[in-house]
Amino acid sequence: MVWREFVLGRNPSLPERVQVFDTTLRDGEQSPGVALRVEEKLRIAEALADLGVAVIEAGYPAVSRGEMEAVRSIARLGLPSKICALSRCEKGDIDRAVDAGVDWVHVFIATSELHMKYKLRMTPDEVYSRAVEMVEYAKSRGVTVHFSCEDATRSERKFLLKVYRGAAEAGADSVDIPDTVGVAIPEVMKELVREVKGVTGLPVAVHCHDDMGLATANTLAGVEGGAEIVHVTVNGIGERAGNTSLEEVVLALETLYGVKTGIRLEKLASVSRLVSRLTGMVVQKNKAVVGDNAFSHESGIHVHGVINNPATYEPVMPEVVGKRRRIVLGKHSGTHAVLEVLKQHGFNLSHEETRRVLERVKELGDMGMRVTEELLLRDVIGVLDGSKPSISVESISYAKDGETFACSLVLNVRGERMESRGIGRSTVSASIDAMRRAVSALVGDVRLEDLALYVPPDPDRYPAEAEVVVVVNSKTLTGRGLAHDPGLAVAMAVAGAVSQALSVEARG
Ligand code: MN
Repeated sequence: MVWREFVLGRNPSLPERVQVFDTTLRDGEQSPGVALRVEEKLRIAEALADLGVAVIEAGYPAVSRGEMEAVRSIARLGLPSKICALSRCEKGDIDRAVDAGVDWVHVFIATSELHMKYKLRMTPDEVYSRAVEMVEYAKSRGVTVHFSCEDATRSERKFLLKVYRGAAEAGADSVDIPDTVGVAIPEVMKELVREVKGVTGLPVAVHCHDDMGLATANTLAGVEGGAEIVHVTVNGIGERAGNTSLEEVVLALETLYGVKTGIRLEKLASVSRLVSRLTGMVVQKNKAVVGDNAFSHESGIHVHGVINNPATYEPVMPEVVGKRRRIVLGKHSGTHAVLEVLKQHGFNLSHEETRRVLERVKELGDMGMRVTEELLLRDVIGVLDGSKPSISVESISYAKDGETFACSLVLNVRGERMESRGIGRSTVSASIDAMRRAVSALVGDVRLEDLALYVPPDPDRYPAEAEVVVVVNSKTLTGRGLAHDPGLAVAMAVAGAVSQALSVEARG
């Protein structure tokens, strides 16, 4: 679904590509309660570069010594992205930014009545001359200068355009329009971009905030108006309600607008997880693109559709953004959901067996019970006549020798007992090793492509959940496992995935 021609018809200035300017490490880190250590900032910077962002705003060196050091260390990494530092329109700030060794300096000054009067205590004329002088100064220090009028969307229009024109004449390389408190609407953003492009002739960026939930819409409108740079943060973190979220804007630009962003979409999910983990900012379940529910399906009609053809209820395949499809059991489930979930645990049910399991699921549903996977595996499949996955884990035990764990597994492979051993630096890695040895003897070429392990905060009450993606003889299979011991949960998940390979083989 690409609307490019439609949008171009109305907005001939729609660019062919935009530069992603990521400010996760600057505006994102200004999220209430977030403070990253230098090593964490470095890890995020590397991940952003790997994702393909054009410019990384690494921080605001004038804030503290630690911040200065973080920006300097990021600049020293020699990443393929341009590294940018924020700076007020003050010589000292600009010097610190330049001294941190960055490629770009993002110089800003507020231009709204409110900010000039109550924050800067400067007259408009003073603000204008300061902006011009400092852009000239930053240019004289040999960096690429990106200039912003803070609170642009609440600034008096004539004055705003005058400052942008002055900055352009003073040598700015690009300018940015910040919607500092998130009050723009799409039509306004689009028009502002056109006007600012008109007076400066420079590449224009938009920097939106989500106070009204309009950050993505406003950013896209800015691109329709000709903006060639978008300021974003991973997961939309940032001051107050946050900034424009990178994943939303990038996916919309690539798939709906046909605008290139240079972003490797398949990395979006892992970068989102990394930033969430390091900042402690949890991603809401129903968050677009990267939320847990973004590619989960529960209702019978949707699950049936998605299993037959994912496009029925998915705008893009989850793999495109590095996510996986999840079928969730609940009161809306039908046959297909039950079949799909049990398949991931290694079961290969007949029609009759499926019918009986579903009947039991519905009974429990009518009793008001949520049919969790745990319940499904413990109670519901009891209605089967001893039908078992091709491979199941009978028992697991560990021994510790110094820093090394040894794992002993007993498997049931189509009714036959099989033992396997493995070692690792944790019980989980020892279990993976034991499982890998066992299954490679059974099916040949096996590769563990991905592993997600969730251990609940109350692990004695609730089981750990493991989900694996395993490639068996170049076929990709998903397996799931639930157990109080995380190592066992992982072994069960691998057994579930490999069982599918074996049942396919058995059928022919
Ligand atoms: Mn901001």
